[in-house]
Amino acid sequence: VLRMESVRKTFGGSVVLRNVGLEVAPHTVTALIGASGSGKSTLLRCANLLEEIDDGAIWLDGEEITGPGVDQDAVRRRIGVVFQAYNLFPHMTVLENITLAPRRVHGVTRAEAEERAVALLERLGLGDRARAYPDRLSGGQQQRVAIVRALAVRPRLLLLDEITAALDPELVSEVLTVVRDLKNDGMTMVLATHEMGFARDVADQVCFLDGGVVLERGTAEQVFEDTQQERTRRFLRRIV
Ligand code: ATP
Ligand code: MG
Repeated sequence: VLRMESVRKTFGGSVVLRNVGLEVAPHTVTALIGASGSGKSTLLRCANLLEEIDDGAIWLDGEEITGPGVDQDAVRRRIGVVFQAYNLFPHMTVLENITLAPRRVHGVTRAEAEERAVALLERLGLGDRARAYPDRLSGGQQQRVAIVRALAVRPRLLLLDEITAALDPELVSEVLTVVRDLKNDGMTMVLATHEMGFARDVADQVCFLDGGVVLERGTAEQVFEDTQQERTRRFLRRIV
C-alpha cells in the first residue's frame, strides 16, 4: 500500500530523516517506535505529503506520490490521519465533525454520509453520542470520534500518531481496542506509539527509529525478542 525509498528530510540544516525505507503491505499494521525526536511524526507527515521530502520517493498503491504533477489533495483523500490531540471542531456535533469531509471533499450526500457515520459510531461503541458536542465526551471518546472521522472517507491507509498519548491510562485501552478491531477488519495502518506492549501485540511490522534512521525493522517478535542492535536494546530496556 505504502512504500518509501531512501527518504531524506531536513529542517533548516538538520537532517531529520535519513535514507528511510519502508514497505507497508495491505492489511498490515506497522508500528514506529523510538525516542522522542527520532522522526516518527515526521515520517508520518511525509507519507501524507504534509511535509515535502528532500530526497527519495514515496509510492501509494504503486503510484509515485512524490513526483512532479501529483495531485496532492487527491493523495491525501486516500489517507486517514489521527493525531495525538484529538482535533475535533468544538462548535460542531460529533455527527457534523464526521460528515464534514465526506460531504465537502468527497461529494457524498448528507443522508449517505450520516448513515455511514452512524454505522461507524455504533461499531466503535459511540452510537448514542452522534448529537453531542466534543466537550461533552471523555478524552477516549473524543479520540474514538477522531478515528471515526478519519475512517469516514474510507481511506486506503490510516496513519495514527501517538493517538493515546494525551489520554489518562484508563482510557488508553478503549482506544487501543478500536485499533485492534480495525486490524481485524483488514485496515492498513502505520502508527507511531510509545506503547510497547501494544506494538508487540498488534503490529505485523515494527520499525525502530533512531536519529532519523530506521535502525531496526522486523516482525514484533524479531524486534522485541531477538533484538539485533545494541541501541534498540538500550531503548527497550529503558522504556519497559
Ligand atoms: P515524539 O516521540 O516526541 O513525538 P518524534 O519521533 O515524533 O518524537 P519528530 O516530531 O518527527 O519526532 O521530530 C524529529 C526531529 O525533527 C526533532 O528533532 C524535531 O525537533 C524536528 N522537527 C520536527 N518538525 C519540525 C519543524 N516543523 N521544524 C523544524 N524542526 C522540526
Ligand atoms: Mg511525534
